[in-house]
Amino acid sequence: MAKTSYLVALGSNRRHGAHGAPAGVLRAAIAAMAAVGIEVERVSAIRTTPALGPAGRGFANAAVLVASRLGPPELLALLKRIERSFGRRAGRRWGPRVLDLDIILWSGGCWAEGALTLPHREFRKRRFVLDPLAEVAPAWRDPLTGATVLQLRHRLARAAPVDRGPARS
Ligand code: ATP
Ligand code: CA
Ligand code: CA
Repeated sequence: MAKTSYLVALGSNRRHGAHGAPAGVLRAAIAAMAAVGIEVERVSAIRTTPALGPAGRGFANAAVLVASRLGPPELLALLKRIERSFGRRAGRRWGPRVLDLDIILWSGGCWAEGALTLPHREFRKRRFVLDPLAEVAPAWRDPLTGATVLQLRHRLARAAPVDRGPARS
């Protein structure tokens, strides 16, 4: 397959024994992606939200623009392998997890085969995805709405001026 571009969103809300706090987990995850041959072309800032109260969890979110010869299912399988290598276990959706890697967009447009859907179903509603995405690919067009990432981010900020929670995964 010819080389394809992807936007991948990263999230963590749990410490890792070796990599430490969520921001360290994301830095290590980006290195792990590069180590398996994914070409990491652009990396956003890593945004962190400190834990609120003793029971709360700190979050870290980021996005990367990558290139790969893999098709979407193969790339997702590789990303899931990386999640597992960071100790992620199958479990509750949105529960605490050491690493979450989602494919948000790819240069091929839409994809809906098996469990994988591109663009990612929820990304237009999520500040914690659109903010870092706008840093690495502001002009990328969502094939479903025709809007750029930057426009989607502005729309969401207008629709929900009260922050819906800065981070998650
Ligand atoms: P959300 O999808 O709302 O961000 P999540 O990331 O917590 O939730 P997971 O438990 O990580 O959800 O993934 C559930 C399933 O979603 C995965 O097994 C995967 O096959 C599927 N999936 C569908 N589309 C995508 C995508 N674009 N990127 C990653 N996983 C996807
Ligand atoms: Ca996921
Ligand atoms: Ca997710």
